[in-house]
Amino acid sequence: MGTSVVTGSASGIGAAVRGRLEKQGDRVIGVDLRDAEVEADLSDAAGRRSAVSAALELCGGRLDRVVACAGLGPQVRPPSRIVSVNYFGSVELLDGLLDALAQGERPAAVAIVSNSAQFMPLDDSPFIAALMSGDETGAGRIVDAETNFNLAYMGSKNGLGRALRYRSKSWGERGVRLNGVAPGSTQTPLLDAGRADPQVGKFIDSFPVPLGRIGQPDDIASMVTFLLGEGASFVHGSIVYVDGGSDALIRPDRY
Ligand code: NAD
Repeated sequence: MGTSVVTGSASGIGAAVRGRLEKQGDRVIGVDLRDAEVEADLSDAAGRRSAVSAALELCGGRLDRVVACAGLGPQVRPPSRIVSVNYFGSVELLDGLLDALAQGERPAAVAIVSNSAQFMPLDDSPFIAALMSGDETGAGRIVDAETNFNLAYMGSKNGLGRALRYRSKSWGERGVRLNGVAPGSTQTPLLDAGRADPQVGKFIDSFPVPLGRIGQPDDIASMVTFLLGEGASFVHGSIVYVDGGSDALIRPDRY
């Protein structure tokens, strides 16, 4: 029982997380473009600020859990919009709600990354450098000029995973656990839209899944709620893959 904020709560994985949290007795403050307690557009700084202040007002400055789930698929154009929602929409929401989380009961947060975040070499990427320095305009300019359609989505998720891990000290010192979940292909409207795109769809369907099926939103939501709960009280700064074994198959030596 407590108060949670879930972004992307109107659909897919976010809706499944919302359902699980409500079942355990939480009051959930959803943040989404529509059908949510806080209707806000996380694709720009003003929308993020208004989402944070509306959520803080609704929770009275005290939160127990936050899940940053809102996101766009790799087929969305312009690619800079993917960067704004998937990276800046997650990081700025998390940072904006940290003080309220620090007032909560055994507080924890989870952001939804992706198993595709490690499928491109990005260590020396100027795009990642732009994300890490908070340069939304510069990061957007790079992906809008890029020919590899994967950079905006995979790169934003890679950057988000790094941003979570960079915060392990500062968040840990405030007593707030912060982790990521990296889903593989999961049956949601986002996946359907990606599959309908000729270029992206071919790529999505080429991913091998050792368990022989794609995920359902509740497969992901169950890991999210586990990481938010007391069973995960020593888990902090981790990225957990929930992808039917795809990452292990593709990168067995990297973990
Ligand atoms: P979805 O499309 O079902 O849900 C995404 C939600 O985010 C929607 O309700 C949408 O309205 C909201 N949203 C989008 N743009 C927004 C904006 N500008 N402001 C506020 N809300 C906005 O998709 P999903 O598959 O449930 O995706 C949830 C998360 O999981 C995303 O971050 C996605 O990248 C990630 N993910 C999904 C898959 C998959 O295969 N479905 C795989 C890996 C990671």
